[in-house]
Amino acid sequence: MILSLKNVSKTYDNGVKALDGVTIDIHNGMFGLLGPNGAGKSSLMRTIATLQSPDSGEIHLENLNVLEEKIEFRKTLGYLPQEFGVYPKMSAEELLHYFASLKGITNKAERNAIVEKALEVTNLSEVKHKHVAGYSGGMKQRFGIAQLLLNDPKLIIVDEPTAGLDPAERHRFLNVLREIGTNHIVIFSTHIVDDVKELCTDMAILNGGRILAHATPKELVAGL
Ligand code: ADP
Ligand code: ADP
Repeated sequence: MILSLKNVSKTYDNGVKALDGVTIDIHNGMFGLLGPNGAGKSSLMRTIATLQSPDSGEIHLENLNVLEEKIEFRKTLGYLPQEFGVYPKMSAEELLHYFASLKGITNKAERNAIVEKALEVTNLSEVKHKHVAGYSGGMKQRFGIAQLLLNDPKLIIVDEPTAGLDPAERHRFLNVLREIGTNHIVIFSTHIVDDVKELCTDMAILNGGRILAHATPKELVAGL
């Protein structure tokens, strides 16, 4: 799979040019978008997730024209925004069953299989009976991923997922992403160099809405 962006630009109403001619091809694997606060990372993530439209440019997922075929594209997409997280008093398992049934998966056995798989991939099987509301930050982030997986997405976008996680939680979370990155396009943003160093197969540095560099972490951040 290739996600291909061509000359994507966005200026907000207040005159801030958040994206300035972003052109990049992103392949299967873990793609890290590294940049300081205000670089345009969230703007780029929201644009790819079709939550906001660019002023100009094109985005394709293989042959699918993302900006013209949003509904079709969204079926292939899992997007975890930066702020995520008010939960009712339900266990992870109950909530995932509920989300799966909202998606129209009415067959109990089928739903069970999908939910158990999502819990397993995100390492939450052991705590599936606990209330998500009582989860730690890292467990909540992993639950966010579990819930995305119910849709069987091809492309997963996570905005600054490690912000606020302690080192152990961060490590566990990145391992889950690494696992998922073996058969999906996973795009995640971060301002932490070590995040991309540790697990990305590919990365880009964004600043002032521009891609400053695009290469493997080895090539780009070896010295950082
Ligand atoms: P990052 O995620 O890298 O911190 P953002 O994409 O959030 O960067 O922001 C890029 C620039 O665009 C910043 O200057 C930010 O203040 C501005 N910006 C972001 N969202 C909006 C918005 N909805 N309206 C106006 N300006 C925005
Ligand atoms: P991030 O850390 O993801 O860049 P921000 O704290 O910059 O998030 O932005 C949080 C929310 O506020 C976003 O929805 C963004 O669109 C909006 N926002 C950010 N900067 C501005 C701005 N200068 N004017 C209006 N909205 C903004």
